[in-house]
Amino acid sequence: MPVIELRNITKSYGRGGFFRKKERFDVLKDINLDLHAGECLGLVGRSGSGKSTLGRIVLGLEPPDCGSVRILGNDVTGLKELPRHVRREVQVVFQNAIGSTNPRMTAGQIISEPLRNFDGLKGRKLKNRVAMLLEQVGLSPDDAGKLPGRFSGGQLQRICIARALAPSPKVIVLDEAVSSLDMLIQARVLELLESLRKKHDTAYLFVSHDLRLVNRFCSRSFLMNNGMLHAFHPELNADTEAREALNKLSSAILPPLPERKTGKEHAGMPN
Ligand code: ADP
Ligand code: MG
Repeated sequence: MPVIELRNITKSYGRGGFFRKKERFDVLKDINLDLHAGECLGLVGRSGSGKSTLGRIVLGLEPPDCGSVRILGNDVTGLKELPRHVRREVQVVFQNAIGSTNPRMTAGQIISEPLRNFDGLKGRKLKNRVAMLLEQVGLSPDDAGKLPGRFSGGQLQRICIARALAPSPKVIVLDEAVSSLDMLIQARVLELLESLRKKHDTAYLFVSHDLRLVNRFCSRSFLMNNGMLHAFHPELNADTEAREALNKLSSAILPPLPERKTGKEHAGMPN
């Protein structure tokens, strides 16, 4: 059973200004997608192509106009809020770590939130679990007492990743989650996510505009273009327009990624 099943998803938004008549434009047209346990599925496309919209639909943050969404076999189409047991299984990391953390909460409080909410952890058990999560993302248990302002962008993003990992979800939507990190940190965070994926069978929906990352870390990838998904590569080769869109993304990419690192080096991550 796929962890996420999207069937015939359609979504349109109103466009147009004050004086012009509002018209609808289709951001997603009849999207079908299955995400399986333990896979990293890449979603690339130019800015504005609808990647985040699809991510929000997977997270239950936005309803589709048509079609159905199943999470772990539960039909959640049209629900205002996901049921608790489903909610804990789908977590998200956004690009903007600063915007997605409360500056007045310590790293420990940020990571504790899902542990309190979903698992009712408190006291020593909570503290130990937070310490473990901090270590998993290459930070120190001593960092638990620090406020977001004391971390670099890369460190804060790893705190967001620790928060997403906290309830041991089946799915994590990574919406440009590493895009703001410098290349070395980016590669290390991705290596970390990959090792966690292998260990816990977590599935990732890896949204990015960076083809290099998607090619390296995803087992299957799709291009989002004109509201439709095109699988790499057989379908893309047959579709001239989609292939051109992919070529545009490729030509925007210049520097190579740093060499792959072995698992041991996570512990001493800089930044
Ligand atoms: P991407 O993540 O690929 O950059 P988005 O999913 O954020 O793309 O947006 C796709 C398109 O839908 C864009 O043209 C964006 O302006 C539009 N859009 C997204 N959310 C809304 C909204 N809530 N209301 C109106 N238009 C929106
Ligand atoms: Mg986006």
